[in-house]
Amino acid sequence: MKDYHTHHPSPNGGYLCAVTRADWERIASTPGMTPCFGIHPWHAADADPAELAFDLDDWLTRHPHAGVGESGLDASPKHSSTLETQRILLHIHLGAAFRHDRIIHLHGVRAWSELLDILREREHNRTLPRVLLHAWNGPHELAREFLRLGALFSVGLRELSHSAAAERYARIPEGRLFPETDDHPENWARTVALLGLLRNGLTS
Ligand SMILES: [Zn+2]
Repeated sequence: MKDYHTHHPSPNGGYLCAVTRADWERIASTPGMTPCFGIHPWHAADADPAELAFDLDDWLTRHPHAGVGESGLDASPKHSSTLETQRILLHIHLGAAFRHDRIIHLHGVRAWSELLDILREREHNRTLPRVLLHAWNGPHELAREFLRLGALFSVGLRELSHSAAAERYARIPEGRLFPETDDHPENWARTVALLGLLRNGLTS
């Protein structure tokens, strides 16, 4: 089992996601990991959209197995002032992921419904890339809508330890929900164990 969303090299392999533009070189040369190029919504204010669009096309062309991310929307009070810029950057990431046929890792805080609308619109226009929703913590009704769009989900120890975890995750089909460590590589073993317990609880 690989780590489906992390910012640190993992002995198990997985998707190593950029946070800032300065990360790309390092993650591209990390052995055993699938690099994902992008700029995290927390750093939207520092990004130049035109430069990001150009760089993404260039780096994805030169790295045919790379993914895109971390991108997404964060409407929490701390980050909501940059939401307009976040949306512009999100569409640049989504467009690049679609054109290059790559998976995109999406972060959503107080924004799952808006993300769903954006992805639905892209499906309608036939410009929807493959999507992974990281740190997924939405209700199952919302998960079902994302599942219809082909989305994958990844969850870490924080999500799996939530009192609503069984309700949120047990009905997501096999092959669509995966473990992640995000910024906590030390949580790997417990994350995999907890996800396994949740799955076994479903089948036993
Ligand atoms: Zn992350």
